[in-house]
Order: sequence, then C-alpha cells, then structure tokens
Amino acid sequence: MSDPTRPTTPPGVSLRRWLAHLAETDRLVAADGKALRFEVAACAKAVEREKAVLFRKPDGHPVPVVANLFAARGWIAEAMGVSEADLTERFLAASEAPIPSRTIEDAPLREVMVTTDIDLNAALPIPTHNEHDSGPYVTAGLLIVRDPETGAQNVSIHRCQITGPDRIGILLLPRHAYRLHKQAEEAGAALPVAIVIGADPLTILASQAIAPMGQDELEIAGALHGAPLEVVRCQTSDIEVPANAEIVIEGRLLSNIREPEGPFGEFPQYYGPRSDSQVVEVTALTHRRHPIFHTITGGNLEHLLLGGIPREATLLSHLRRSFPGVQAVHLPIGGVCRYHLVVQLSKRGEGEAKNVILGAFAGHYDIKQVTVVDPDVDPFDADAVAWAVATRFQADRDLVRIDHAQGSKLDPSAREGVSAKLGFDATAPLDADEMAYKRIHVPGMESVDRTALLAATVAASAIGGS
Ligand code: MN
Repeated sequence: MSDPTRPTTPPGVSLRRWLAHLAETDRLVAADGKALRFEVAACAKAVEREKAVLFRKPDGHPVPVVANLFAARGWIAEAMGVSEADLTERFLAASEAPIPSRTIEDAPLREVMVTTDIDLNAALPIPTHNEHDSGPYVTAGLLIVRDPETGAQNVSIHRCQITGPDRIGILLLPRHAYRLHKQAEEAGAALPVAIVIGADPLTILASQAIAPMGQDELEIAGALHGAPLEVVRCQTSDIEVPANAEIVIEGRLLSNIREPEGPFGEFPQYYGPRSDSQVVEVTALTHRRHPIFHTITGGNLEHLLLGGIPREATLLSHLRRSFPGVQAVHLPIGGVCRYHLVVQLSKRGEGEAKNVILGAFAGHYDIKQVTVVDPDVDPFDADAVAWAVATRFQADRDLVRIDHAQGSKLDPSAREGVSAKLGFDATAPLDADEMAYKRIHVPGMESVDRTALLAATVAASAIGGS
C-alpha cells in the first residue's frame, strides 16, 4: 500500500490535463452537433459508466461541453494519483492538512472579460438536462463566497438556473454559503459571488468536502494537488478563484429577493421541487479564449460519485474517533452515494456493531441504512455485503430500527425530511465456533494464471464424437 499522505502531481490537477489523460487511455469520446436541450445529457448518461464525452459544437455553439469526468470510483483515485484502496484515506489526509492557496496576477481565464450586455445563454453552451427541469442549468459551477467578517472563503456546488441574460436562480441549502448569505441579508447587503466552471477535477472534488465553517475548500484542493492552488482575484470583488479554471461568472447574491426556481432532477433520481430560491445578478463573465464548459447531469453517476467520496472520508474519520476497529466505509451507488452506508469493522466486543450503526446515523442526517460487516467481507462489493446479510444476520437479534429521525428532504419517502433509520449488524458472533463462519476457500486459487487459462480456447472440432 502506498503512503496516502505522500504528495504527488496527479493527472487531476487541471481539467485539460485530465482530459488528455482520458484521451490517452481511450476513455474520451467526441460527439458533434448535439442539441443542448436533452441530447447532450442523454448521450452523457448513455455512456456514464464507460466514457467521458466531449460535445463539439453543441447546437452549433463554438464552446465545447464536457461531461462524465468520472465514470467510476477508480477514475477519481486515478485523478488523485492513488490506488482505489487508498482513495478515502487520501481525501481524508488532504482535508486534515489543507495547504493555503497562492495568489498570482494573471491567468488564461482573463483572456476574455465581459462586464456589459452579458448574455449567459448566448455566451455559454448551457444544457437542459432532465425531462422536467425548468430550463438550462449550470450544474458544475463552484460557488465561491467570502465571509466579510473572517475573510475566509467557502466553496460549494449549487444548481444554477439561468433565469435571464444576466440572472441566475440558485438553490442554497442551509450550509455555509447559505449562512454567509443570511448574514449579508441581515446587514441589508448583497453578497459577492463567483461561479467557477471548468475547475480542475481535484478542486471540484475538494468543493464537496464536509469541512467546518471557515475552512476554504480551495486549501483542501491544494492538499490534493500536493502544492498550493494558484488563484487569481475576481474583476468585481475580492474573491479569489482557481487560476486554472475555464470560465468564471461573477455576480452578487441579492438581499431579500427570492424567485421561482426548479423543478430540477436531483441525485436521488427524483425532481427537487420548484420553490422560491436565492438570486444572483451577474456582474462579469470572464473566460479563456477557447474555453471548455463542464456540465454534470443531475442524478448521473458523476453527480453521485462526486458527492460520495468526500462523505465517505468524513464518515470514516467520524466513526474512527469512537470505534478504532472501523477499517473502511462505503456509500454504494444503489444508495445514491448518500443514504446507504456499509462499514467494515474489526469487532472488539459483542454489540459494538450496533454502536457503530448508531454512530453512523449521528455522522450525517442523510444516512438512512447502515450495514456492518466483518473484515473478511469487501464493503465495496455489493454481492459480498448481501452475502454477509444473508448468512450472518438475524432480524430478531441484529436489526436496529429508529423511527421519526431526521433524514434527507430529497428522499420522497420521508415526510418533510422525517425518516426512519435501519441498521443491519451482519457481523458474526465473536464466540462462534471457528468453523461455523469460516468462508470456504479453494487452495491455490490466488496463484492460477488466469490469462493463460482464458486464452486456451477449445475449437468445437477438437471435441470429437456427437
Ligand atoms: Mn464549507
């Protein structure tokens, strides 16, 4: 196992470098002239588990769109320069040792600067993704705001509905950006913002860290890069944005104004409803001369994975504080990388798995189902986890159910975000007879030369007889 804290220069340090890496390894395909309304998203979704897609001339627009930067968990590890087994540990190490950004004077994203007659839909190829989405959305924009009191920046991704040539409806859920906006509203002021499109994959990932208020997520990006992230100051505010980005929309989150926004296809594969959301008035648009526009289709695998990995890191660190026997955690795709959690535990005492289940529910209100497995079960293998439940779990003894707890508002089966929680202790009893839970094994399997075996195909004529 490589050292997960080791600084590296991984291929995810810039969007273009990552795309070149995908191209070199036959994982980037091109699609020409697709329609921005549905067709771009349809093509991206159709190959979401296999390829990244570069959409050239979408609706004839000169700016290309890229989608599916991550089509598997392993791609994220690769972008970070670590093995898949080290992915969560590496992200955790970066979030615990952030590296301050370095301000530079100029960057390619300043090659084109527009401050008057801004028309977002004309300037940028902004797709409409799911069937009932209310219109085109910027979905892969990093919203950067600065706390006027502490000076600390915050980075997060929000759905951004294009509601006018220079107007954006933006859904802020009650986390850090929401708090800073509320603080500005109480002072009766607009809050300057930057929406960054085409940041490098590691910075996009860092934006999803469950970091404490006051922690600039760009510093976590720096730690993932293994070097300070270079940033440049905005044209119309003191916000600093990643210098390697493709496009920056500058603006102001208006005070005490809400406008209808949504519906929009969200990560649980359902529509988030239309509601009155915050509004950004755009003050400047700056971009490279030939920029690339990144889009994430709501509910796509890329959307799920981007949210899942940082959450796994947070949950791992949270659980280990109380349970040092926790070896790994996983938020599987079937649980939309949010609601279902698998914990691999080296159990020290009988009953500990149930405490781990309760600890996980306390780790994030989104967690709805927790399955705890032994060290001989791979938590990343859904079949293995099902096997553990099938053979080590009894509902009368190993089931945890908690009613009327706080859950995800985007889970349509929850009532106003009130949800029941379910836990499965699928660990074998510590005092069981050794042979009772010993997994069967064929000696010598690990050393079979599979390549040679699979290559030696037999022709039908060699069978003989009838
Ligand atoms: Mn934050």
